[in-house]
Amino acid sequence: MKTEPKASAENLQNKMRRRTFIKSSATAMLGAGIMQHNFNVFGAEENMPVLLGGKPVRTKGWGHWPHWVAEEDEQNILKVLRSGVWSRAGVVSSFEKAWAGAIGTRRCLAVVNGTNALVISLAQLDVGAGDEVILPPYTFIATPQSVLMNGAIPVFCDIDPRTYQLDPKKIESKITPKTRAILPVHILGLPADMTAIMAIAKKHNLLVVEDACQGWLAEIGGKKVGTFGNAGCFSFQNSKHLPIGEGGAIVSDDEAFMDRCYSYHNFGSAYGTAIGAVGGGSIMLGTKLRYTEYQAAMGLAMLKTLEAETVKRNTNAEYLRSRIKDIPGISPYVLSPGVTRAAFHLFPFRYREDAFHGLSRSKFTKALSAEGIGCSGGYGQLNKQPFVKAAFQTKNFKRMYTSAELDYDAWLERTCCPENDKLCTEMIWISQEKFLTEKEDMDDIANAIEKIHKHSQKLAQA
Ligand SMILES: *Cc1c(COP(=O)(O)O)cnc(C)c1O
Repeated sequence: MKTEPKASAENLQNKMRRRTFIKSSATAMLGAGIMQHNFNVFGAEENMPVLLGGKPVRTKGWGHWPHWVAEEDEQNILKVLRSGVWSRAGVVSSFEKAWAGAIGTRRCLAVVNGTNALVISLAQLDVGAGDEVILPPYTFIATPQSVLMNGAIPVFCDIDPRTYQLDPKKIESKITPKTRAILPVHILGLPADMTAIMAIAKKHNLLVVEDACQGWLAEIGGKKVGTFGNAGCFSFQNSKHLPIGEGGAIVSDDEAFMDRCYSYHNFGSAYGTAIGAVGGGSIMLGTKLRYTEYQAAMGLAMLKTLEAETVKRNTNAEYLRSRIKDIPGISPYVLSPGVTRAAFHLFPFRYREDAFHGLSRSKFTKALSAEGIGCSGGYGQLNKQPFVKAAFQTKNFKRMYTSAELDYDAWLERTCCPENDKLCTEMIWISQEKFLTEKEDMDDIANAIEKIHKHSQKLAQA
């Protein structure tokens, strides 16, 4: 999910509001001799949904994102500032070592963002003109764009309706002699079924690039996502779990591939060439997509809390799942086989309006948000947006492909994904920072959904 960071003034206001609220409600509770502040127990009227005039389940808000903790980390960023060395140097190398260590690969290259981590990886695996790349439609726009940016054609393959991930059972029907790679996405931070996907890739001799841009520290059988394919790509954009504003990384055990990625991201200069040295010459096609020392200093700081936060998100998500799974019309996520840990960039569940007296999804998200549980409907149908058609109409694509290969209507038909179409009308997302709280906070979410279900008939008519 991409969200603009809230203005700091607004954050401050929220914090102050929260403080005032805690203070005044604590005083009221002491006065009444009641230590529990569940307003809903006081009367039937207060149990009504907010949209029908009731009181919200939650008034104290949620923690904001990103958060910043350690003073020592700020010192490290100041050190970078005062050193005058701001372009790629030693701190970036330290960050790369730390991220490779956290993920469990031999190498890591930090780059400007996750989008370009994907673009570089595909380019350096020689995926380009004439190639098809199989990928899921339930993803962020950067995934198919990275394929098109290399002159290859994205072929969307439908998702598993329960895990929301690329469905391995549907991949083989999409393979043609032109298929070069599979690009699974660990979308929402839930791992794709890499065991099955890698078996298909091996059988058909296909490359695999993992879009792990929402999958930090998620695991299948104790092995981190991003380490199964030829390359794994991560994002450190502001809304992500290792937030740096902008940033990304490629991880792999393939030294020669990583050397090429390095060269490409630094004007095609040979790997190891000192940044700033202009006399070395270039050995290959390249551009400039380098990380800065500031980004690395921030990344190292943010990395300290990532493991504990990942554990917390898992614990809370599992608990919330158990609380809401039996509510009629609510179907929470199912994890792929062998998943030992997810990242939960979002907490996803499917919403069926027929079990809520026809209460539309948009009315449901409004009602739940009004209870103090902000939520959204998530991605639209990516495979039907006009960017592929526009790419097919560019001069480059017209030179690379025949007009039959660029038949957009035929492409559209071939890449239709009915399960994804349905998912896009039923999905509900709750954002990750809400899961860095406690069990009682999860109860607020579950109670709010139960309340809306209970009053769904009236809400649907309102
Ligand atoms: C965020 C994201 C990207 C792109 O990462 P940026 O750092 O924003 O460029 C790619 N794929 C997915 C699934 C993402 O969530």
